[in-house]
Amino acid sequence: MSKLPDVGTTIFTIMSKLANDHEAINLSQGFPNFDVDHELINTLKRNAENNAFHQYMPMTGFPRLNLAVCDAVQSSYKRALDPSSEVLITAGATQGIFTAIMALIEKDDEVIILDPSYDCYDPAVVLAGGRPVHVSLSKDFKVDWDAVQGSMNDRTRMIITNNPHNPSGRVWVNEDFMRLEALMESYPNVLILSDEVYEYITFENKHISINERSSLIDRSIIVSSFGKTFHITGWKIGYLVANKFLMDEIKKVHQFNVFSVNSIGQATLADYLTQVDLNSLGSFYQKKRDLFRSLLQSSKFDLLPCEGTYFQAARYDKISTLDDVSFCKELTMRHGVAAIPISVFNKSGVDNRVIRFCFAKTDETLIEASNKLCRI
Ligand code: GLN
Repeated sequence: MSKLPDVGTTIFTIMSKLANDHEAINLSQGFPNFDVDHELINTLKRNAENNAFHQYMPMTGFPRLNLAVCDAVQSSYKRALDPSSEVLITAGATQGIFTAIMALIEKDDEVIILDPSYDCYDPAVVLAGGRPVHVSLSKDFKVDWDAVQGSMNDRTRMIITNNPHNPSGRVWVNEDFMRLEALMESYPNVLILSDEVYEYITFENKHISINERSSLIDRSIIVSSFGKTFHITGWKIGYLVANKFLMDEIKKVHQFNVFSVNSIGQATLADYLTQVDLNSLGSFYQKKRDLFRSLLQSSKFDLLPCEGTYFQAARYDKISTLDDVSFCKELTMRHGVAAIPISVFNKSGVDNRVIRFCFAKTDETLIEASNKLCRI
């Protein structure tokens, strides 16, 4: 008997292990391999030496951190939030997503998931007793709003959106929000769980957040992660934003799920958030994207548009006829570069033969990996 009979080990664990076993350059699992800001480490050390920061934090978060999140949301999106009732500090975005779904999805509620989708959404819906309804994005990873509309009915309770999008690197445009807003008018009881963990990693076009869409904010839960924003995926600290009515329910689950999040990490992020310019992250990663794309110009890979996140999607039709999972394994074992096959994020398993490279790496790593990829 299994509650999740279809679930195995995640592709991130599998590919990172394969990369390690074969000493391949790991462009699969999304994590930076460069040093984090020294100022962040110094702040962490200082806080570790302060005895005030070694015991439980308040359940909803370290008040100064909640306040700093409110300031960031205010300055980025002009939304005013109440720090104690509308912000919840979580143990990473994953826990925030899980907790929100557990709190808000009831037995047989339908939840729309747009595929390819990040892997933690579906299992959380299943564990909550809900029914995931997977709707495919178009081949170029745009939302097919007619298909979304066609899959909604009076059992639909939530739609999970992810913008900027992992694994494709695509970013929503204003028209996507207008379609969502029009659709939501016909379904007043449907909630939006908006995964915006890459909110500060967009390039030519600035990220549009649900926080900016006044007709949607009262029915939305917005998720973010400091792991992405400050290059600290291992810290596992993120946050949820939602109105008090939804957050009260989410907190009921959160308090028995983690109760409160790592104290020193929270104290450190509260200090650090007041010192950094969040808006510089986009140009930092844009340089890496441009470098990686220019290095791969002479390869046989066809690069898809990359508008945000630190992922570059690529077709490999000119190189191989293998399915994407086998191709990624071969790439790792024979050519020394690990990537992620995108088909595993499609519930239907459909394989459009596209793979994902993570470019959150030092320039040296990107150059070394590209040299290998260009030799194929
Ligand atoms: N979010 C990371 C990625 O997309 C992986 C996180 C994990 O390993 N679960 O690569």
